[in-house]
Amino acid sequence: MKLAFERVFLRALALVLLAAAPAGHPAAWLNQAAGSARPLAVVTTSTDLKALVEAVGGDRVQVESLAPPLHDPHAVEVKPGQLAKLKAAALLVRIGLDHEPWLSRVLRSVNDPRFVRGSPHDLDTSKGIQLLQAETPRVRGERGVHVHSFGNPHYWLDPENGRPMTEEILEALARLSPPHRSQFEGNRNRFIEQLDARLARWSQAMAPYRGTRVVVVHETWPYFAQRFGLVVVAAVEPTPGVPPSPSSLAALTQKMREAGVKLLVAEPYSNASVVSQVAARSGARPVTLVPSVGGDPEARDYLGLFDLNIKRLTATLASTR
Ligand SMILES: [Zn+2]
Repeated sequence: MKLAFERVFLRALALVLLAAAPAGHPAAWLNQAAGSARPLAVVTTSTDLKALVEAVGGDRVQVESLAPPLHDPHAVEVKPGQLAKLKAAALLVRIGLDHEPWLSRVLRSVNDPRFVRGSPHDLDTSKGIQLLQAETPRVRGERGVHVHSFGNPHYWLDPENGRPMTEEILEALARLSPPHRSQFEGNRNRFIEQLDARLARWSQAMAPYRGTRVVVVHETWPYFAQRFGLVVVAAVEPTPGVPPSPSSLAALTQKMREAGVKLLVAEPYSNASVVSQVAARSGARPVTLVPSVGGDPEARDYLGLFDLNIKRLTATLASTR
């Protein structure tokens, strides 16, 4: 009697396990079959996505970012070791739109059907985002350069977007590792609580500067600006990713002087001579904001990224008054 019960129980258990097995790849299956022992291998296209996957996945994920933090995100060289990690990964997480023009080449060389769009092993976090500048028609550049053709892809820089992004990440991780769903939910809830608390603090710090007009080097900051009440009046790059000509620089700096624009927002990888020329000719004060986690030692995680940027911004804004 006891033996028969055990047989039935074991058969039922096997059926449950089979039903829970992710379609497709043996690596993902091994990942899950190892259950509690092995974390899910995840590859992301940016350090920001890595930070968000870690916030939700905790010790259940092992995450590698293909792009380093202080690199122009439009041009990334992926190393052979990273290709191997992508081949072994259970999940690829990307920003989507045309943010990663280099990714299609990488995926071609990996040639793994698990990473086709719509597969449970591929997550594009742009799906749940209300895009900005999506109405601006842009000419797609040659060789698939990043020109914001489908709307502005720098949406992780509105901390409110950390909410839908972690929601998508939670669902993707739970699909691949169903026994850990409640752990992922607990991690995400804690992350959202902290995000809400910091958001209140950041908004309060920025409140005195709402409506401040700024010029940016690259159109990295529309989501950030909208959240914190800055008004981006122009970009130094006439088209995203395209350096300005001397005549467009002259026209821009004259307009900045006339309009009294006091702040110029640059990135750590912006062309330093262009930034100093614009600042000197316009009289605006330059501030370098960090667009990605790890781009500065203080920007250790997603919340730390905003802590640092709000601190730099408010310090510079206070000095321009
Ligand atoms: Zn861009």
